[in-house]
Amino acid sequence: MVKIGIMGLTGCSGCQCEILNCKDALYKLLGKVEFCYFPLAQDNNSFEEFDILFVEGSVTTDLDEEKVKKGRKVSKILVAIGSCACYGGVQAQRNDEVTLEEMLKEVYGTTEFPVNVSKPKAVSEIVKVDYELPGCPLDKKQFVYAVAFLLNGVKPFFPKIPVCHECKLSETECLTLKGIPCQGPISYAGCGAPCTSAGVGCQGCRGDCDFPNYEEMISILKEEGLSTKDAANFIKVFRGKQAQERLSEIFSKGVLNEKRG
Ligand code: SF4
Ligand code: SF4
Repeated sequence: MVKIGIMGLTGCSGCQCEILNCKDALYKLLGKVEFCYFPLAQDNNSFEEFDILFVEGSVTTDLDEEKVKKGRKVSKILVAIGSCACYGGVQAQRNDEVTLEEMLKEVYGTTEFPVNVSKPKAVSEIVKVDYELPGCPLDKKQFVYAVAFLLNGVKPFFPKIPVCHECKLSETECLTLKGIPCQGPISYAGCGAPCTSAGVGCQGCRGDCDFPNYEEMISILKEEGLSTKDAANFIKVFRGKQAQERLSEIFSKGVLNEKRG
């Protein structure tokens, strides 16, 4: 029996709820896998040893760090699930702009907490991550495919093509051509493009596709009326460290030839 754990750090638990929404697939797994640890879903949990440990949420407290380090030690394979775990997520979007103290005072009015709090980090900034399944929340089909791959000893592989590709497959009219801010050209597909097909621009919740062209994306967003700063902030919403590093490189080279403002 393959031992599986589902662990939550700092996040909204939406990714774990998506796993629970895979109910038909979960029933099929019964008999092949044992969910040893899934506190959101069951009372009896053991944290002894896992063949696969799925980790949701960013590392934001001492407790998160302790849990994920312990999880890594007792797991053969560790998979980060959701954009909080993969990139730091929404809570990491201003990591490069404000201090931790400023963040805490703005949100909670105090810097005093019963646990030590740090800036939100991706799981891979603390421990080795074997695979990442991003998304806010993660795509439940991708979770099921990843489990099926891993149960068969195959490395989960999902090509990092842009969301635009999925718009073409679903014959969704391009929102960028309609002047609606959309991050599809730089965002990792696999979600089936639910936002664009509903007429809402992609917010980039799955992070970067391969070879994202941030400079061109910012130029397009500016043509649609955003300032350089707003365009950069839009790109940063879900991508945490991933976007902050790319953007600071672009701005340090003066590539956009305009002051952020
Ligand atoms: S990635 Fe999104 S859905 Fe998943 S825990 Fe983070 S905020 Fe919640
Ligand atoms: S279209 Fe964009 S924002 Fe919407 S689910 Fe897909 S990657 Fe996330």
